[in-house]
Amino acid sequence: MVGLESVNKHFGDLHVLKDISLEVQPREVVVVVGPSGSGKSTLCRAINRLETIDSGEIRIDGKKLPEEGAALADLRADVGMVFQSFNLFAHRTVLDNLTLAPTRVRKTKRAVAEAEAMALLDRVGIAGKAHHLPAQLSGGQQQRAAIARALAMHPKVMLFDEPTSALDPEMVGEVLEVMVSLASEGMTMIVVTHEMGFARRAADRVVFMDAGQIVEQNTPAEFFDSPQTERARSFLASVL
Ligand code: ADP
Ligand code: MG
Repeated sequence: MVGLESVNKHFGDLHVLKDISLEVQPREVVVVVGPSGSGKSTLCRAINRLETIDSGEIRIDGKKLPEEGAALADLRADVGMVFQSFNLFAHRTVLDNLTLAPTRVRKTKRAVAEAEAMALLDRVGIAGKAHHLPAQLSGGQQQRAAIARALAMHPKVMLFDEPTSALDPEMVGEVLEVMVSLASEGMTMIVVTHEMGFARRAADRVVFMDAGQIVEQNTPAEFFDSPQTERARSFLASVL
């Protein structure tokens, strides 16, 4: 569903993605972990082409990411992205946040988009907030709205970049629950997170990045219980 082949990215002299190759299968949940600055966000942003790459190739559902234009917009619509900061449109109701892209990009009829949006809000447990503005919601509710907004586009893959890092601790669980249920429903997901409990529960595969490289990847049980590299061992010692 997502394929990266020998992807390289520099910021000036800094080599932030070093020959990254990664294949994510349909319905697979890949959790990306690693120290701050290891290139996890850049990887996510490259997959959505919010960031250009210097060399290598990225494919979504078998199609190479186009450089720009309508083809890029189409492919990007297949990739849902949820950020640390909720990034909802502040001056639109929650319902409008969910219907804007489907009506404009997918040309879905408003009534259909609204019905779908209400079903999604119900699924993430905030149907009662449909007509509120984002600022009237808690952080956990805003992030669940952001997930619902991404799902409203019927993405083929969902990318999460530290979706719970900006939340008060008591709100982390409600967002992770939504992600766990999405995973169990078969969504293809790439999740950058420091929530090791989530990784153990929901990941099919854990990818450990350090200094722009994929250092190791394994099932969660193998990765957490018997990390293969010193770098992974010291990372785990720092977060667990
Ligand atoms: P992570 O998400 O793992 O913390 P990032 O992908 O955000 O890592 O960053 C990887 C490295 O690239 C860091 O050293 C960061 O400072 C640098 N970096 C990220 N974005 C930019 C940018 N737009 N310009 C210059 N350097 C950047
Ligand atoms: Mg990051």
